[in-house]
Amino acid sequence: MNATSHNPSDEQADLAAIRTTVRRFVTREILPNIERWEEDGSFPRALYQTAGEVGLLALGFPEAVGGVPSSEMATLVVVEELARAGSGGLIAGLLSHGIGLPPILALASDDLAAEIAPAILRGDKVCALAVTEPGGGSDVANLRTTATRDGDDYIVRGSKTFITSGMRADWLTTAVRTGGDGAAGVSVLAIPGDLPGIQRSELQKMGWWCSDTAALHFDDVRVPARLRCGSEGMGFLGLMHNFNRERLMLAGMAVAFAEVCHADALEWARDRQTFGRALITRQVVRHKLVEMQTRILGAKALLHQTARQVDAGGEPVAEVCMVKTLATDTLEFVAGEAVQILGGMGYMRGTRVERIFRETKVLSIGGGASEILRDLAARQLGW
Ligand SMILES: Cc1cc2nc3c(=O)[nH]c(=O)nc-3n(C[C@H](O)[C@H](O)[C@H](O)COP(=O)(O)OP(=O)(O)OC[C@H]3O[C@@H](n4cnc5c(N)ncnc54)[C@H](O)[C@@H]3O)c2cc1C
Repeated sequence: MNATSHNPSDEQADLAAIRTTVRRFVTREILPNIERWEEDGSFPRALYQTAGEVGLLALGFPEAVGGVPSSEMATLVVVEELARAGSGGLIAGLLSHGIGLPPILALASDDLAAEIAPAILRGDKVCALAVTEPGGGSDVANLRTTATRDGDDYIVRGSKTFITSGMRADWLTTAVRTGGDGAAGVSVLAIPGDLPGIQRSELQKMGWWCSDTAALHFDDVRVPARLRCGSEGMGFLGLMHNFNRERLMLAGMAVAFAEVCHADALEWARDRQTFGRALITRQVVRHKLVEMQTRILGAKALLHQTARQVDAGGEPVAEVCMVKTLATDTLEFVAGEAVQILGGMGYMRGTRVERIFRETKVLSIGGGASEILRDLAARQLGW
């Protein structure tokens, strides 16, 4: 896939080319299989390599490590196309390196980044981000997993939970405490998944069935100190920087899934006859569909405006928080209305709206829960 250009007409052509590539990939590799993968609770590991071959995993990463630099707008196009399969679990699992790799690239030496990243971007290795702990996920600065220096190694002790791709990750980008209390004591280690002392157990979820989600236990795991990313105490900053991109992407997923729900509800309303007429002819249904579309358009406008601010070099933290909460609130509303319009069929497994409805909450909680993001936005705005 091509990098995205700064020239507006070239950029449009690049985005169209990316859309075509991802659409083909989704049509060929995902749509015929997604129902089965969701029911099985897993998609094949080989999908990472297939995605790597079409350049999907490399998009948005630096050339120096085998990536293809691109804009936030390009990421939104990728997410929009992947969302056509109606499975957030597929996106979260296949693109878990999208949250696992950036802290490594932001903090690690060039040599360490070059050792780890290319195989992940090719799809040969899987990467997960391990920050959240059983004691809490919102308050990252107070994490409790410790890494104690012992010669050339760290000894890592503690637990992580809700980790996407945690069962099969080859690299666990792990936030640990190397120093005292608070943010200044946090560091990031790139931990190979096969080190002795790492125990993984799979968690069962409301939605995102085809992505694996794991609880991890680090029982005195000896990690070479050279796998620390950046200096001790730099971890929190690296993780925070990453959150902006993650939140924009989650907002993009929410808007894209809301569009899928609206499309399916509209199609159903046109086809479904009740009391001798199509549902779409009823004012109450038309108003529902317009309200859904109004909220989607509003969220999408703010999403694109914020992505363009980031592409222009800005760090609009408050806007990113606001767009993530707006987009996920929009999805909760739209998915609920879509299920309602489909009636009993909207409650049946195998429809996209049923699956997306089950997946709404994870988008309002993961990557910063709505309450936390509204609080952060207020602070950013100086209130
Ligand atoms: C399917 C899934 C996949 C995930 N994948 C990953 C992953 O790959 N890597 C990873 O590290 N984490 C992952 N997470 C974890 C996710 O980021 C956390 O669940 C999230 O940050 C919230 O943390 P928590 O669940 O511990 O909730 P808590 O922090 O315990 O919060 C619980 C509730 O209280 C609210 N709350 C907390 N503090 C306040 C406050 N001060 N004022 C008002 N309200 C407050 C929160 O908004 C939330 O609604 C995943 C979660 C899920 C469900």
